[in-house]
Amino acid sequence: MRPDTRVVHTAVPDLTGSRPLAVPLYQTSGFAFTDADTFADAMNRPDGAFVYTRLGNPTVRALENAVADLEGGAAALATSSGMGAINAVLLATLSAGDHVIAQRSLYGGTHALLRDMEARWGIEVTFVGGHDPAEVRAALRPRTKVLYLETISNPTGHVSDLAALSEAAGDAVVVVDNTFATPLLCRPIEHGADVVVHSTTKYLGGHSDVTGGVAVFADADRHRHTWHHGIELGVTPDPFAAWLMIRGLRTLALRMRRHVENAAVLAHRLVEHPSVRAVHWPGLPTHPSHEVASKLLDGFGAAFSFDLADAEAGRRFVSALELVHLAPSLGGTETLVLHPAGTSHRQLSEEELTEAGISGGTIRLSVGVEDPDDLWEDIAQALAG
Ligand SMILES: *Cc1c(COP(=O)(O)O)cnc(C)c1O
Repeated sequence: MRPDTRVVHTAVPDLTGSRPLAVPLYQTSGFAFTDADTFADAMNRPDGAFVYTRLGNPTVRALENAVADLEGGAAALATSSGMGAINAVLLATLSAGDHVIAQRSLYGGTHALLRDMEARWGIEVTFVGGHDPAEVRAALRPRTKVLYLETISNPTGHVSDLAALSEAAGDAVVVVDNTFATPLLCRPIEHGADVVVHSTTKYLGGHSDVTGGVAVFADADRHRHTWHHGIELGVTPDPFAAWLMIRGLRTLALRMRRHVENAAVLAHRLVEHPSVRAVHWPGLPTHPSHEVASKLLDGFGAAFSFDLADAEAGRRFVSALELVHLAPSLGGTETLVLHPAGTSHRQLSEEELTEAGISGGTIRLSVGVEDPDDLWEDIAQALAG
């Protein structure tokens, strides 16, 4: 079946004679056994009987199976946040003294985590532009364990050539944060990724009402290994959070189509506006990633940035908006803006900000599913004010 159908038809448990239409919420912390051997076996593997919700839960499993299916992976590990998924994957993969190659324009939290791992665990990190396979090849060392990429980066809309970079990474585990693209626009495992991570807080949940994450593994052994670390870290989601994410997933295809259509409308109007210096949406032919994005993505995404003259113009703009909210996060039904230099990327130094393509006047827009003319009217009045 096609992705638009698969997001709606999440597998539900079979009862005797009938099946629930929605995935039931198993709001329980544990499970009772009649057989001690079944109990013992369940403690040691992710695919045994359910025993304790930190190790596994039927509602959480339904979410994991649905996202693994959409991404074309063997299995998934759902977590309590996107950072939980990223931590579980990196801590399960890296040991002291290992080396990571990471794309320079990363989500701020991931960047801070890698810096912390460098300072405290002796893990070395080389940042690369993320366009050039030769740069990845040149950065490889005997202890390179991870190549870390984002399908569409925040906030400049850089799109990585996943296949070429994965190929260049040799034996390193290729981890791709696919939050901005979702499996509807890109499935990184098809392009050589070993692990895909998501903040399901964003598009997969889609309604700004739940925090969560998921890691999808191309290989079942890597899933099992990471599951062991994940349960030690305690990054398991609550069943109700998983239930909300499954509900969000059902409309993912509809929402993504509208998000991307609206983003196209706003990006084209912003380009024409005299107060706007640059628009960083990969759907624009002038964007440096446009060619790669056209090949890799089934849609150019709906969270992107544009540049106003300076920090003062940026502050004035975000304060003058009336319909569009000034708020963190992205991927919900409502349109949001933020000012990265002062918020999401505040951990970065001046030099790192410039390297990541962010200036004082950069505005990040997460385009929602409202009527695009209402959005444009609000943006235009705020730009004029
Ligand atoms: C939000 C986000 C994260 C972190 O996810 P949380 O759910 O906030 O922990 C990681 N990567 C990207 C690209 C994000 O947008």
